[in-house]
Amino acid sequence: MTVKNPVSLVIVGSIGLDTVATPLERREEVLGGSVSFACAAASFFCKTGMVGVVGDDFPAAYAALYGHFGIDLSGLQRVPGKTFRWEGEYANDMNDRRTLRTELNVFAEFAPTLPASYRSSPFLFLANISPDLQTHVLGEMTAPKFVAADTMDLWINTARPALERVIRSVHMLTLNDSEARMLSGEHNLVKAAACVRAMGPTYLVIKKGEHGAMLFGPGGVFIVPAFPLESVLDPTGAGDTFAGGMMGALAALGRTDEAAMRLAMVYGSVVASFGVERFSLDRLAALTRGEIEARTAAFRKMITLEA
Ligand code: AMP
Repeated sequence: MTVKNPVSLVIVGSIGLDTVATPLERREEVLGGSVSFACAAASFFCKTGMVGVVGDDFPAAYAALYGHFGIDLSGLQRVPGKTFRWEGEYANDMNDRRTLRTELNVFAEFAPTLPASYRSSPFLFLANISPDLQTHVLGEMTAPKFVAADTMDLWINTARPALERVIRSVHMLTLNDSEARMLSGEHNLVKAAACVRAMGPTYLVIKKGEHGAMLFGPGGVFIVPAFPLESVLDPTGAGDTFAGGMMGALAALGRTDEAAMRLAMVYGSVVASFGVERFSLDRLAALTRGEIEARTAAFRKMITLEA
């Protein structure tokens, strides 16, 4: 059977109504969640299918925004109840963040069933969501060519055996530096990366916020800085935007060799740099592929030795 409108990347994760306070501004119930940021970022590169759940209070304008990005929504469930909510507060330097509130709501009972058009997707990104759900979604796929996963401190602390099952089953894991240390018990990031890669994944990306990201793989280490910005309004979702952009670029290339991984790291970094310029998905909603290419060209000049 030929599947209509196949997607080349499927992403599962959280959809949240976020309340975010930075030292300068506070916004209530803006669109967030790992799958929102990741799908929006990936949509600049490839046809992306979203797997997630919202309650019947989910604003129509936010659903329309997903449509604006051209995200395939056949894996998005709307169920009775309240949408997941999250509240966080940033310290003065915008690096440290405190979670003030997490309300699972419809997330607690979420059991995704993948549409037929998603099952044969070659690329799958298990964005931050409970590891049991990540495993469930992976099990619904026919034979994905490349699977990546992200996670967070909560699952490292509360669901370690389930998380280890996910880590064993994926080609690439993305963590921020503190999560890599927590998961491995190693302070040194090179040692931490070796330890995490020994748990299963061929590739590990360690995200370091404003200090960029490191790719550890069979070809050694590759490092990208963060694109230098004069002003960062809201770093929420930067990691998801990075990973979504990276996976979207890989799916568009249709390759995961070393050169493709490096180029995808650069695209991930560039798209994430746009995302943090405004709250929520506001900047990504106004972004064009042309702007991405222009910033990528400028970024390449910043990181080469050629004068
Ligand atoms: P990041 O800044 O990359 O850590 O991502 C922030 C996003 O993660 C926010 O938009 C939240 O809605 C979402 N989030 C926060 N806590 C959780 C959780 N326990 N599970 C899944 N997503 C979450």
